[in-house]
Amino acid sequence: MTEIEIFMKFVEEYRDPELGKKLLDRIHKRSRKPARLMEFCGGHTVAIFKHGLRQLLPPSIEMLSGPGCPVCVTASADLDKAIALGHLPDVIITSFGDMVRVPGSRSSLQKAKAEGADVRIVYSAQDALTIAHENPEKSVVFIGIGFETTAPTIAASILQAEHEKLKNYYVLSLHKVCPPIMKAILDLGEVNLNGIICPGHVSVIIGSHPYQFLADDYKIACAVSGFEPLDILLAVDRLVEQIESGQPGVEIAYRRGVKPEGNRAALSLMETVFEIGEANWRGIGVVPESGLQIKSQYEKYDAGKNFKIDPGPTHEPKGCICGSILRGVSTPLECKLFRETCTPEHPVGPCMVSAEGSCAAYYQYGSNK
Ligand code: SF4
Repeated sequence: MTEIEIFMKFVEEYRDPELGKKLLDRIHKRSRKPARLMEFCGGHTVAIFKHGLRQLLPPSIEMLSGPGCPVCVTASADLDKAIALGHLPDVIITSFGDMVRVPGSRSSLQKAKAEGADVRIVYSAQDALTIAHENPEKSVVFIGIGFETTAPTIAASILQAEHEKLKNYYVLSLHKVCPPIMKAILDLGEVNLNGIICPGHVSVIIGSHPYQFLADDYKIACAVSGFEPLDILLAVDRLVEQIESGQPGVEIAYRRGVKPEGNRAALSLMETVFEIGEANWRGIGVVPESGLQIKSQYEKYDAGKNFKIDPGPTHEPKGCICGSILRGVSTPLECKLFRETCTPEHPVGPCMVSAEGSCAAYYQYGSNK
């Protein structure tokens, strides 16, 4: 444990200005080489903007936002499937709130609801199971989005449905996994990174080992971070240390939450119900082995296999550059619609809808970087 970590035991301490100043001093003293760092996770993007961290870092450090917002990376084609399911008779769609407002190719779940579809916002898959119990004559479909963080609870809901012999519960699995998309973004060659702030909540589940290839094969420094300002500064500090010493590795700067091996029980739940398969990412396309699909053993719960739908052709919102923002190639400031046509009240693309979206963070907290 570092000296600064020893002092940080309580939440207030993770926001302590004195400790923050010490860390920043250290970062400013050490950082000499140009360092381009990407925070993968949308939660980190919001925390960085909320606490104005970009402006506090030395000019040698450039921060980019990555594709770690579950709502934002859901492809229009997948959203169109969810909307098409909502228009089927006797189907109740259950979804996390942000997802409902995201525009698909022609509509959104919110508009589908206004047109008569039964779309309900839930806070967990457990809520969806309850709705299934209360509506035995209907088919209840949960729109499963998110990364390794949410997948174990969705897996648990499918196992519970199996245990309770529930016959009207389905999941549209749009789940994604992080390490393969990090690799895909690097292989695209559009952004040159020196370091990655690895996602905190995902790493609670998968641990830090799955990032080792980034240091070994791509020579990229890695630090897993929590979500308080000092967590993020500590992660930046560890990345600067690795970059300056020329020794990239994988460090955990979030030790109160993350173990190198992850959470075995949660991983086991995921592995029981899901298998690795391809996933469709907004702005990136279909990436092999970057998603979680329901195993054939549980396919009776797979909405993708049990309903016949015709979602129609897919197209992206006109003028929206969410795709290149998610790849770290552009910032919201480069979008002509930002603040003009596209606002949180009238979002054109998902990065403005989601609480973890880059456009929403730029809009809410303001930034010229
Ligand atoms: Fe898309 Fe709106 Fe962001 Fe532009 S500002 S990229 S239209 S979400």
